[in-house]
Formats: sequence, structure tokens, C-alpha cells
Amino acid sequence: MGYLIEGESGDWEVVVGLEVHAQIISEAKLFSGAATGFGAEPNSQVSFVDAAMPGMLPVINEHCVAQAVRTGLGLQAKINLLSVFERKNYFYADLPQGYQISQFKHPLVGEGTITLDLPDDATRKVGIERLHMEQDAGKSLHDQDAVRSFIDLNRSGVPLMEIVSKPDLRGPEDAGAYLRKLRSILRCLGTCDGNMEEGSLRCDCNVSVRKVGEADYRTRAEIKNLNSVRFVMQAIEFEAVRQVEVYENGGKVNQETRLFDSAKGMTRAMRSKEFAHDYRYFPDPDLLPLEISQEFVDGIKASLPELPEQKKERFLADHSLSAYDAGVLVAERETADFFEAVAEGRDAKTAANWVINQLSRELNRSGESIENSPVSSQDLGKLIDLVSNKTISTAAAKTVFAIMYADGGDPAAIVAAKGLTQITDTGEVETAVDNVIAENPDQARDVRDGKDKTIGWFVGQVMKATGGKANPKAVNELLRKKLLG
Ligand code: MN
Repeated sequence: MGYLIEGESGDWEVVVGLEVHAQIISEAKLFSGAATGFGAEPNSQVSFVDAAMPGMLPVINEHCVAQAVRTGLGLQAKINLLSVFERKNYFYADLPQGYQISQFKHPLVGEGTITLDLPDDATRKVGIERLHMEQDAGKSLHDQDAVRSFIDLNRSGVPLMEIVSKPDLRGPEDAGAYLRKLRSILRCLGTCDGNMEEGSLRCDCNVSVRKVGEADYRTRAEIKNLNSVRFVMQAIEFEAVRQVEVYENGGKVNQETRLFDSAKGMTRAMRSKEFAHDYRYFPDPDLLPLEISQEFVDGIKASLPELPEQKKERFLADHSLSAYDAGVLVAERETADFFEAVAEGRDAKTAANWVINQLSRELNRSGESIENSPVSSQDLGKLIDLVSNKTISTAAAKTVFAIMYADGGDPAAIVAAKGLTQITDTGEVETAVDNVIAENPDQARDVRDGKDKTIGWFVGQVMKATGGKANPKAVNELLRKKLLG
């Protein structure tokens, strides 16, 4: 059993469904030709359509439709050849039209699936309910002036895909795994850059709890507009515990919209949750129903890249990696490409270890992405070759790697310059072993008395004495021979 919350009256299960707003990668907006770039001067990317000037008519951007279909195919979802744009009516200062053009009854994409990679090599399928297209609203700026608010309409009309999951997630970990997987699929497809800090991927979480064994769902609260995976996980955890406490104290959970305060790590009520009928949806009379052909869909299908899931299966079959390692490598296309370049003609497990451990650790530490890795895949490959042909020990290779990462350079040249070549001269190693034994008579006695662990200590001493250049396996054998006869 996964994530449960213990209550006085028994264990509670957490039920989560996510609604993700993903900004479509497109030069132009959904219904106008205005630009969509992030960080532009306020109100510099606004057409008359985006500003809702009377008489302006929306024109659907075909590229955005193709991007949404591509995403639907990547989610193994049903593509609806007929879908309908509707007006979702509400008032807000940053929504000059007075309605958002969205899809409601007839979305472009129907049910699909995402496979989660969970710890311990487990996987689980999560249902996608639908994907529909809609336009973004503008942005109210409340922090520029003490008494006035400003409106920036650059985001008005920016193309979005709203991707709705089924309530198949069972806690914060699931939600985190879902978001990471969805983001990796979107990036792989090239339909959304997944950049949460810039608002290209925003998440609303529907959270409810129920007693283990209960068949029906209880009332849910919706937490709005979370912009990091960590916040999503924290918000779900807080909200689930809060609801359990409400029930345990005999109370009732309200259907409401809540906000997550990331500074306090708490959710708080914003407004009682509106229902769909409050928005008075109706088909937009300015837009015809969206009809696409099966050929259009098939053409996009033929151009799909290898998706993370397929790549993972290929890595498992071809390289006999663990499911976990394969999952880590395929999460970003660039990491997978880098790994494949290193693994070409080499032991894949070793290549995976270097990419997942040494390289990723350094990249994380220096905040660098793998495309800009200071160590190229060719050079990492050469370094691995120096270990496999026994020129250097693994310990020395780590030293060489650190130098390559910090200062660049060819691994063989670094090995030569630093004198790190593995000592193959058995005489030299033997001298070192003899010296270390002679200097440590007490430990030597321990080994002879049967303390096998102390052998490891001796190996460490010899490695130190030889500057990491001896072969630890050979040292171990030699020590055993000398000490135990
Ligand atoms: Mn929406």
C-alpha cells in the first residue's frame, strides 16, 4: 500500500487529480498573430484580438492545433476529429473579452494514459481524462505601485493545453512522478518547454481523502496555480492532512478553491468552488467547430519522436540496465542522447553509472544542463576506455574526471601529466604492500587472527601509498597471500 494518513479512526487514502495548463510552443498566439515570447516589455505583444477590441475576430492557429494533436498522440489518447470552442464567461480585469475561449463539451483530445516510474522499479498507469485547447488570460500586476494595479496583456491569447488526469493519483509522490513524466513527454514532443518558473506549466490539484476500502470519492478541494513540483507535493500533503483532521473532528470538507502559501507551506480557502454551470459555457459564435482530417492526424503520428516510454523499453532490452537507471536516463532527451553516445561500443552499465552518478552530480552542483556539459560524450567515453584497458584505476578515473570537468582537456593527456597510470609493475606494488605490513604490526596480527575486515583497511593504506595508482584487486590478493599465506 502506498501513501496513507493515519487517523484516530483508521487509515485514510489520498485521492488526487491534476489539471495541468501547458503553454504550447508556438511563435504566435492561439487566435491572433501576436508574439508569445517570455519576458517582453508589458503590453508589447498584444494584437487588437488579444485586447478584445470590438469587431475583432479570432482565427485559429493551425500550428497550435497540430501541437495539441501531437501531445494527444504522445499521451496515447483518442483524437477527436470534431471539437468545439466555447466561451467560458467570467469577469476579471485581466480578461478584456469577459470570457475565455476554451473547449468544454467537445475537447480535441479524449482519454489517454501516462505510465509513472515509481521507486523500486515499479510502474503504474494513470488515466488522462482529456486535453483541450484554450487561451490564456492577461496578468494583473499588483506589486508595482502602492495604490494602483496594472494590466499586462502579453499573455492574453497565449495558447494553452489543459491536460486533465483522472483521480488516479494516491498522494504527493504520485503527483510528483506524474508531473515529471508529463513534462518529460511534452519536452520530448517539443510541444511545451515545461518551464514551470516561467509559467509554461502550471498545475491545479484536486485533493480529497477517503477511508481505506471506501468505494466512493468524498468532497474535493482544488488548490490553484502551483508552479513547481515541490509546491504541488507540499500542497497535497498539507491539504490531505487538513481534510483528515476535519473528518476526524466530526466536520465536513467544503468544495472550495484554495491557495497554497509556499512561505508557510499551508493551503487556505480562497472562494467556494464554482460549478461548471456558473460559467455559462456556450459555443463561440465567432469560431466554427474545429474539424480535422484523419490524414492530418496520421501525418503527425508519422513524425512523432521516440517517446520516453519506448526509449526506456529499448534501453532495457538492448543494454540490460535496471528499470530505475533507464528511467533516469530517458527523463530528458538530451541525457538519453548523451548516454547513448557514451555507451556506443562500450559497456552500457558502466556508461550509465558515469552519466547518472559522476556527471549528473557535477552538473547539478554547477547548475549546468547536459547540453552544455564541460565534459563531452566523446571524452567521457575515452576516460571509460582508459579504465577498461587497465591504464588507470577507477579511483584515478574519478580524479581525472574532476579535472576534465573543471578545466577541460583530453583524459589521456591528463593521466600522463598527473602520472596517474596504474602501476602494473608488480615489484613496485609488492614493495608498497611490504612496507605497509611492516609499519602496522598490530593490524597485521588482527588479520591473522581472522579479522577479515582489516584487509580492506590495508588495501586503503596501500592505495594511499601508491597515490591511487595500484590496482585494488591485485593489492587485495597480494595482501592475502602475504598475511594469510
Ligand atoms: Mn483551464
